Amino acid sequence: MKRPVFWFVVGSQHLYGPEVLDTVAARAAEMAAELESDGAIPFGIVCQNVVTTPGEALKTVREANYDDGCAGLIVWCHTFSPSKMWINGLTELQKPYLHLHTQYNRNIPDRDIDMDFMNLNQSAHGDREHGFIGARLRAPRKIVAGYWRDKAVREKIGSWMRSAAGCRVSRDLKVVRFGDNMRQVAVTEGDKVGAQIQLGWQVNTWPVGDLVREADAVAETEIDALVEEYGRQYTFSTDDAGAVRYQARVELAIQKILGREGAGAYTNTFEDLHGMRQLPGLASQRLMEQGYGYGGEGDWKVAAMTRVMKAMTEGMGGGTSFMEDYTYDLEPGRELSLGAHMLEVCPTLAAGKPEIQVHPLCIGGREPPARLVFEGKAGKAVVVSLIDMGGRLRLIAQDVECVKPVYEMPNLPVARVMWRAEPDLLTAAHAWLLAGGAHHTVLSYDATAEMMEDWAEMTGIEFVRIHKGTTIEALKKELFFADVAWKLR
Ligand code: MN
Repeated sequence: MKRPVFWFVVGSQHLYGPEVLDTVAARAAEMAAELESDGAIPFGIVCQNVVTTPGEALKTVREANYDDGCAGLIVWCHTFSPSKMWINGLTELQKPYLHLHTQYNRNIPDRDIDMDFMNLNQSAHGDREHGFIGARLRAPRKIVAGYWRDKAVREKIGSWMRSAAGCRVSRDLKVVRFGDNMRQVAVTEGDKVGAQIQLGWQVNTWPVGDLVREADAVAETEIDALVEEYGRQYTFSTDDAGAVRYQARVELAIQKILGREGAGAYTNTFEDLHGMRQLPGLASQRLMEQGYGYGGEGDWKVAAMTRVMKAMTEGMGGGTSFMEDYTYDLEPGRELSLGAHMLEVCPTLAAGKPEIQVHPLCIGGREPPARLVFEGKAGKAVVVSLIDMGGRLRLIAQDVECVKPVYEMPNLPVARVMWRAEPDLLTAAHAWLLAGGAHHTVLSYDATAEMMEDWAEMTGIEFVRIHKGTTIEALKKELFFADVAWKLR
């Protein structure tokens, strides 16, 4: 992923004389540099010239639109900056937009405050003028209010930057589909043309035969090297070296195809394994660990979302994976969901060292596949699903608390994660079903519902959050009114 930068654009006007504008420019540079050096800020911040005229606003926006390295604008008005001068610029803006509502000084300098100070430090009302034009233009934007040196403010900016980075990855994401989606399944279908228009995703198909040919061409020496790497990273709990070597072969083959196509995600399906000896298990887990998106049963939406969320959370270290609510533990008052899949859970979720095991798979009709088996970490996470509502996409985010699995489950031959959903599993499941969330999801310890909401706003899709305060009564109304509103848009 190319490291994006964000432009720090400070608004003012020519009413106060050149000295004030010099001070504004110097402080803008100081703030941009200090923000960038903060650990909560994951990407670069580049200070731009102070915007004082309609022409400068338009020029800045046009340059931002055409600069590939620019992932978004952070705008703040140090003084008053009449908003009609921003209209021609903002109506052309194609990059994510954050309105930072702050001021240079934290406190009012009691004895020193005079009219010079008042002329220079006007964001309390200058930003209101800027907020109005954002609202009047219906511009999608993030507002962060607070003192710019405060940790909470910087964390909010950092989180929004990650959403914007996800937006940028989305715009040129290619998804390779090996085979179609599983027969008769509804939620893995969807309007691919619509998704490309909305999100930029290029979703296309490749025959499984191409993957088989690529796998056949992988050299034994490449497999030797990869199996050695497996030995360093995982514990071998199998004698079936041949099964493991086959997964290594498939991992290398898929990686080559994705590299050649410039793709960041892929899908496959157990219903189309023509010419393959095993369903990719270990191979898909390893590719997710490297940052690729994956979707089982041809689910291209979840594959792309996995890639986007991995890109958003790069470097955070918590873990993000393709996931599925598999089965429940319905102990009254402490209901838990067991998340797993047939094979494909990303080892970035693992609490300990994953084990390579080989077991038969009752579906797909192929040889027993090698896979990584592990327990997921405990901690706060978000579970996300993107669905096609017909005419629009809906993103659903569910707040969860992962726990150390409450059972050992020694005969369960797949990776497993257990969580308590907010506000409780039964309400959450009820809400999920009402909203139409898929069985396939992305689980991330790093992403938050706020990050996903910002991404949904940037990409112009519907967002539904299931959280601590969710009630079925309120959600029913929200979904009903949202449906009407989205049809009017
Ligand atoms: Mn599935």
